Amino acid sequence: MEEIREILARNNFYFKKKFGQNFLTDPNLLGAIVRDAGVDEKTTVLEIGAGAGALTRALSAAAGKVLAYEIDTSLRPVLAQTLAGCENVEVAFGDFLRADLRAIEAELGHYRVVANLPYYVTTPVMMRFLEEASCCDGVTVMVQEEVADRFTAQAGTPEYGAVTAAIALRGEARIVRRVPRTMFTPRPNVDSAVVRIDFEQDRIPVRSVGAYRAVVRCAFSGRRKTLENNLMNTFRLSREQAKEMLSEAGIADMARGETLTPAQFARLADVLTEHRCTDGQ
Ligand code: SAM
Repeated sequence: MEEIREILARNNFYFKKKFGQNFLTDPNLLGAIVRDAGVDEKTTVLEIGAGAGALTRALSAAAGKVLAYEIDTSLRPVLAQTLAGCENVEVAFGDFLRADLRAIEAELGHYRVVANLPYYVTTPVMMRFLEEASCCDGVTVMVQEEVADRFTAQAGTPEYGAVTAAIALRGEARIVRRVPRTMFTPRPNVDSAVVRIDFEQDRIPVRSVGAYRAVVRCAFSGRRKTLENNLMNTFRLSREQAKEMLSEAGIADMARGETLTPAQFARLADVLTEHRCTDGQ
């Protein structure tokens, strides 16, 4: 949108790499992302990184309410202009990673996250919603393509990791759109993709989410080691005990952690919980 570029120029705005500022301006793409996210007038949206407000404005047109965080206060005058008349938008200036998510959830009730994420904080932002959120119904985020591949990876592939397993507990991650680098200002060095995750209650039943996380951390703690060895180190088990836990969970004792599916992590976590091995983790 030419208008946004003009507003940025009029306010002497300069892009800050340290904040991951790669803005979108194409109205067709912005509208498509709002549709990808399944936003309608009943949806409350939490956006991380309003930037110049292009996505915020598109979200405002479709959603019931939008709360947008932005760390860069030099965007205040820009957003005042680009979001003029968007009555259902509230902008909060500050670092979302330091924001009080409980207070946000108390204000918003149920909400969906929609964001063109600043790349340098993609994982910590995602982990907040995966591990801390209790009223989040789903997340639709633009991330670097290689990160999107990690979010949606299958067990046993090089892209599969702790974040994949954390997502799997909440919902299925799908790449819903690939976005070439040419769509961003300034242009980054990599292409991007939009990933959508709809959160489901008890998608993978597990007795203790803490134990699941401990098992996942353990499984990926030494990628070239067997899970049996990692279990011995993490949970201070003898080889016999580690073999016993794996056998009870129906997992081969020579298995490597990175080959286990999220359901297998959950089964192993349940066995370890039953034997009280995860106490103090
Ligand atoms: N939503 C805009 C768009 O699509 O054009 C901007 C997206 S840009 C990739 C990411 C935005 O997040 C930047 O405006 C940046 O200043 C902001 N940002 C970076 N780190 C942040 C943080 N920790 N908390 C809140 N906003 C942040």
